[in-house]
Amino acid sequence: MTRRSDPAPAEPIRTCIGCRGRAPQGDLARLVAEHGRVLVDEHRVLPGRGAWLHPDESCRALADRRRAWGRALRVDGPLDVSAVQEWLAARV
Ligand SMILES: [Zn+2]
Repeated sequence: MTRRSDPAPAEPIRTCIGCRGRAPQGDLARLVAEHGRVLVDEHRVLPGRGAWLHPDESCRALADRRRAWGRALRVDGPLDVSAVQEWLAARV
């Protein structure tokens, strides 16, 4: 058995699709696309490719402006992100 210098297993680092900042995945919301809608996977149980976003309206707006949703989620065509907006609004 090898000794590791890390005191604890590191949490995976993910990149926010809005601000492109990197953060432990626990600080980010997982998003998945389903039937043309972007859903917030709060319990991280939904299948499929996930994208990560700070739970922050400014990051959502940045992702909109950069049209990051489809690219991050590998979906062609328009995506309805109203569920993400509602989720963010409900958090405030
Ligand atoms: Zn962000």
